[in-house]
Amino acid sequence: MAKDKVSTEWGELLFDEADMQERLPKPTYRELMQVIKGGKPLDLDIANEVAHAMKEWALEKGATHFTHWFQPLTGITSEKHDSFLTPNGDGTILMAFSGKELVQGEPDASSFPSGGLRATFEARGYTVWDPTSPAFIKDEVLCIPTAFISYTGEALDKKTPLLRSQVALETQAKRVLALFGREPHRVITTIGLEQEYFLIKETDYAARPDLILTGRTLFGCAPCKGQELEEHYFGAIRPTVNEFMKELDDELWKLGIPAKTKHNEVAPCQHELAPIFEEGAVAVDDNLLTMEKMKLLASHHGLVCLQHEKPFEYVNGSGKHNNWSISADGRNLLEPGEHPEDNLQFLVFLACLIAAVDEHADLLRMSVASAGNDHRLGANEAPPAIVSVFLGDALSPVVEALIKKESIEATEAEVMDLGVPQLPAVLRDNTDRNRTSPFAFTGNKFEFRMCGSQQNVSDPNVVLNTAVAEQCDRFVNYVAERSAEPFLTVAMRFVRHTFRDHQRIIFNGNGYSNEWQEEAARRGLSNLRTTPDALPALMAAENITLFEKYGVLNEAELHARYVAKAEQYGNLINIEANCMVNMARRLYVPAISSYAGDVATAVAAKAELGISSISEKALVARLTTGIDNVWRLANELEAVATNANSKSNPSEQDALCRDEVIPAMEALRAEVDALEPIVGDKWWPVPTYNSILYYV
Ligand code: ADP
Ligand code: MG
Repeated sequence: MAKDKVSTEWGELLFDEADMQERLPKPTYRELMQVIKGGKPLDLDIANEVAHAMKEWALEKGATHFTHWFQPLTGITSEKHDSFLTPNGDGTILMAFSGKELVQGEPDASSFPSGGLRATFEARGYTVWDPTSPAFIKDEVLCIPTAFISYTGEALDKKTPLLRSQVALETQAKRVLALFGREPHRVITTIGLEQEYFLIKETDYAARPDLILTGRTLFGCAPCKGQELEEHYFGAIRPTVNEFMKELDDELWKLGIPAKTKHNEVAPCQHELAPIFEEGAVAVDDNLLTMEKMKLLASHHGLVCLQHEKPFEYVNGSGKHNNWSISADGRNLLEPGEHPEDNLQFLVFLACLIAAVDEHADLLRMSVASAGNDHRLGANEAPPAIVSVFLGDALSPVVEALIKKESIEATEAEVMDLGVPQLPAVLRDNTDRNRTSPFAFTGNKFEFRMCGSQQNVSDPNVVLNTAVAEQCDRFVNYVAERSAEPFLTVAMRFVRHTFRDHQRIIFNGNGYSNEWQEEAARRGLSNLRTTPDALPALMAAENITLFEKYGVLNEAELHARYVAKAEQYGNLINIEANCMVNMARRLYVPAISSYAGDVATAVAAKAELGISSISEKALVARLTTGIDNVWRLANELEAVATNANSKSNPSEQDALCRDEVIPAMEALRAEVDALEPIVGDKWWPVPTYNSILYYV
């Protein structure tokens, strides 16, 4: 039977299991699978054989180079290409690739942010092959997913802690499952990432220095029409955009990325792509690759893909929903089963999750903190900066009933008769209508909705995995301390007490409302509004203990991450401030002045004819005051930005950005935006929201 187009293309550029099986000698393939799926250490002989097979495969697909593909603390991916070309010494060449080149690389990496972990004089950083994420070909380059670590083994990237946190969670979850009499081969996390983005015309983008330099518009008054008609969401897709989406799907499928759903989002020009969920770190890799492809392919259609969290004021920004669950040998642990014991197991994991989120809400908030995301969280378009859990109408009554249960000592019979057996039926039609919750149970998985569209979501998953691992560990110890009692009774009590003790984190109401802010404060939940407020959680003593205990990040690595994030925030705000000052002085003031001058000339000409013009004179006066204001506000912004930027301590710099620079940016923007509607269109120096957001 002839294969359809998608099945033919699927995974064409991915060195997947089928390719390995086909190209590797049987024993080598088996060994490699034990490395990939069983965590066995890799030996160099195997690596040599894999490297050879991988290279042959890549050469057949037209590749000329290879690269170690890694994720430094900037969050984006990095690569340095080496060709396979090796001279034979007699004028001929050989296309070679060794096991050593596959397994380890040494990029001269002194200019990646390390948060001080790696002084430049000992700039060694190593990239190390991650065999759990398959190699792929991108633009004639064989890309090998790698972790990036320092000479002394400290993580310098986003991937290493994610892999470590997966191990921690797997270890602890297996201990929990063992108590239920299960011994799965593997426990993994599953992640499905919904990626939001904007597409605008390349010509508009090229005419806006703010978009080019910062990824967002730093000026621009509200468009005449925003998203109030609610016509864009799921609306018919523009033909140009559709062409882009088709090419994107094709390219992603070739890379074995299971792109599934595409649609228009709420804001004009905003869209979303959701793949089918995949195993933890692979889903994160694939999301990074997807983002890269989006940017590249947009240019084939005269478009630019904006992935910033807030490219335009007045319309929604972009997020990335992180759908998360745990799976044991293919069985979703957040899905209740057919038998009461399965439901109890489900409730134990649910309880662990709720406790994890409550105890480490500050870390979750930190994990999504960035200058870009600060524009979204709490702005009535995304969840607030307060972390809470939504359980929904189906699950909440069960949890409440458990908490209220008078007799704390559940008997085995009671467990069987808890109303718990009905769980699968109720949950099946659990339709989650609450879009305002940052952490929502959606039937068989949790959806963490605070992540920013352009962020590498490794960080939030590291926090989730580690925090849940800690709770699984707590459960096992709880049971061990009560070994004299029947297991089911003890497990039930754990569930009940955990729900009772962490009830404050459960909230099913409207997360966008002001009442929730007050209620959350009463409940003692923190509301960390800005990145400088959120980042210190990384350095809190109890969080260092958490990460160290489960072998995910040590104190030095955490400190480095704090410094890298804090510096990134300060640097970004500084670039935005510089860009604003520059645009104000070199684009807006000259444009407004030119328009004012032309109107003034017209007024003078009319006066000679004996015609006086009241509104034009008033206009010139307003424009002139405007120029003075813009000039003064730009000077003020420059002064506070220079001062903030002069601080060598990143925490001090960030606090100044939050308290002085951002307010000065807002003041300058407000004045320019107030002038925009009264300056003639042909004088205005950059494309406006009206034209950018409503292209044909
Ligand atoms: P919605 O817009 O309603 O949130 P979507 O269908 O757009 O739903 O996205 C749901 C995402 O959740 C998809 O990426 C899907 O593959 C993913 N998902 C479904 N089940 C799981 C699971 N068990 N673990 C992780 N992600 C999941
Ligand atoms: Mg969603």
